[in-house]
Amino acid sequence: MAVYRDISDPSIVVGCTECPWWFAMRFDLIEAYKAGEQHQIDVHEIEPARAQEPRRLFEQRAEKRARHAVTV
Ligand SMILES: [Zn+2]
Repeated sequence: MAVYRDISDPSIVVGCTECPWWFAMRFDLIEAYKAGEQHQIDVHEIEPARAQEPRRLFEQRAEKRARHAVTV
């Protein structure tokens, strides 16, 4: 799964590295990850826990950044 962000555009495009014809557009990065998860689960029969991994990592990083911002 790949998530593309175009900073000049508020929408976020999610693509699949295995299905170049598939993409989803969302305005929220978490929602974009969720769209990708659903694709992985539905089309590639990936376990939900594995499909959610990129979003969990993203959320962890976002949380760390938020904590850092508070302490500085
Ligand atoms: Zn795919």
